[in-house]
Amino acid sequence: MPIPPNPALDPEELLAVAIAEAELGKREGGIPIGAALFAGDGTLLGRGRNRRVQHGDPSVHGETDAFRAAGRQRDYRSTIMVTTLSPCWYCSGLVRQFNIGAIVVGESVTFTGGHEWLRENGVDVTVLRDQHCIDLMAEFIERRPALWHEDIGVAE
Ligand SMILES: [Zn+2]
Repeated sequence: MPIPPNPALDPEELLAVAIAEAELGKREGGIPIGAALFAGDGTLLGRGRNRRVQHGDPSVHGETDAFRAAGRQRDYRSTIMVTTLSPCWYCSGLVRQFNIGAIVVGESVTFTGGHEWLRENGVDVTVLRDQHCIDLMAEFIERRPALWHEDIGVAE
């Protein structure tokens, strides 16, 4: 069973790191999705952002970038993956594969990925409705629909 995150941790505070990454990605001309992996006590292990555009690499999602930045961890059950947007199936699979115990989602209004599936499989899931995250994605989808469809694998 997952170890629930320390209730003293404020999800919005953790989310702020992921939002900063999303903002950075936006400034770089990329897809504005950011993520961060935290230890159960709130220590930041790694942070990252979607860099499909920046690296020409469709496998660099916010979550995978944060996960790689965190390096090798012995055990992920007590870690928390924080992401500005509901995780896609690829990133939901990452959470399952490595038994990450908890996720915090900034919003699932503009896109709903696999967070309910994660919840059904015992992951501690917190879904926020953060307006900053919603605005970042809504503005991006409006401005770059083709790039967004490329990212989520939807044919034009
Ligand atoms: Zn993803």
